[in-house]
Amino acid sequence: MNILIVGSGGREHALGWKIKQSEKVDNLFFAPGNAGTSELGTNLDAGVSDFQKIKTLVLENNIDLMLVGPEVPLVEGLHDFFAADPELASVKVVGPKKAGAELEGSKDFAKAFMARHDIPTAKYFTVTADNLDKGVEFLTTMQSPYVLKADGLAAGKGVLIIDSLEEAQNSLKEMLDGQFGEASSKVVIEEFLSGVEVSVFVLTDGKDYKILPEAKDYKRIGEGDTGLNTGGMGAITPVPFVDAVFMEKVEKRIIAPTVSGLAKDGIDYCGFIFFGLINVNNEPYVIEYNVRMGDPETEAVMLRVKSDFVELLDGAASGTLGEKEIEFDERAAVTVMLVSGGYPGDYEKGKVITGTEKVTDSLVFHAGTKQAGDDVVTAGGRVISVSSYGTDMNDALATSFKNAAHIEFEGKYYRKDLGFDL
Ligand code: ATP
Repeated sequence: MNILIVGSGGREHALGWKIKQSEKVDNLFFAPGNAGTSELGTNLDAGVSDFQKIKTLVLENNIDLMLVGPEVPLVEGLHDFFAADPELASVKVVGPKKAGAELEGSKDFAKAFMARHDIPTAKYFTVTADNLDKGVEFLTTMQSPYVLKADGLAAGKGVLIIDSLEEAQNSLKEMLDGQFGEASSKVVIEEFLSGVEVSVFVLTDGKDYKILPEAKDYKRIGEGDTGLNTGGMGAITPVPFVDAVFMEKVEKRIIAPTVSGLAKDGIDYCGFIFFGLINVNNEPYVIEYNVRMGDPETEAVMLRVKSDFVELLDGAASGTLGEKEIEFDERAAVTVMLVSGGYPGDYEKGKVITGTEKVTDSLVFHAGTKQAGDDVVTAGGRVISVSSYGTDMNDALATSFKNAAHIEFEGKYYRKDLGFDL
């Protein structure tokens, strides 16, 4: 089978690493990929939103299955584009169509979906320019801190958590006035939930689903979870507080009703669902849905999937996932993300990366890297991740930290306190 992975991050590199282990794979491609993915397969020159170019490359390379890594092309309708084109009829696509991708593409849609299917989540109210007065009033019925969310995709920056009522009311107006462009032409006001967050992932064909290992990611740039939000500084799996009792609640109250809710709403869904959950006194609530795997969680979670991943992806795309088995590695796995100095603010690119050959007992997944002549250089904020197994979280972290120290580039930074709160 020829497989194309759309995307260019650490997530796609880790998915490729897992997929490459399958005997079912003939050729593996990435579009556009990075310096790391080119060692696993062939990088093709197409942006994730360039559907025509992707089509041409899929036909040229006889791709049988396309796995879409990031949310943007899914929300833009890449799967729908493939489904509507007779020339692409035989290509299996893993990743939801536009209608299903709305779970991530519109927070208002996701909240209404959860309300409709009785899935536990924070109370909310959706505001547009037409009912701003009601929104301002709704805020007075809530308690501090106030949670304001841009409805659309805002690259992880569209959520504001504000202590003062007056400031929240002003921010609501600013968001509706275009603070996040079109993404905040609708704003969801939410009740603040207090607890520890955890990410749970499933692969589904729309009828059946397989639950993957859960993970916790670390979003803030600074140690002790301080400073600005990033795309993610590292991840850990398993998560100690996620025991069988908690997972049973997650499956019964959240996963099963989400998958059946999609079917009831007439949305055929094939792909991953990422449940961003919060544990409030041992009760799980949904903070957000994503319609793809998480990054950097994938760089840890893939280490714990023992089964043939292509079998599972093919099952999801063919509607036969119920016939497949999924097995896990019982060891702990972690990933530590090395980032450019200055990130998530301004940072420089083009710094030469050295020392990856000194890494032992860990896997290196590239994120923002590219080949420049004979050198691999930095090409993004999140640069490269070091993933390791261990008997437990601390054992795995020790291995990743040892190897993170071997990799060098000017301005390198990583958090050395991952897992501090577990
Ligand atoms: P992401 O980068 O995770 O995709 P996003 O922009 O889609 O972010 P959310 O995940 O909905 O937005 O929110 C971002 C973060 O804000 C959450 O991870 C959580 O820490 C916090 N948050 C969101 N909603 C709530 C809430 N109702 N109560 C408490 N904290 C919240």
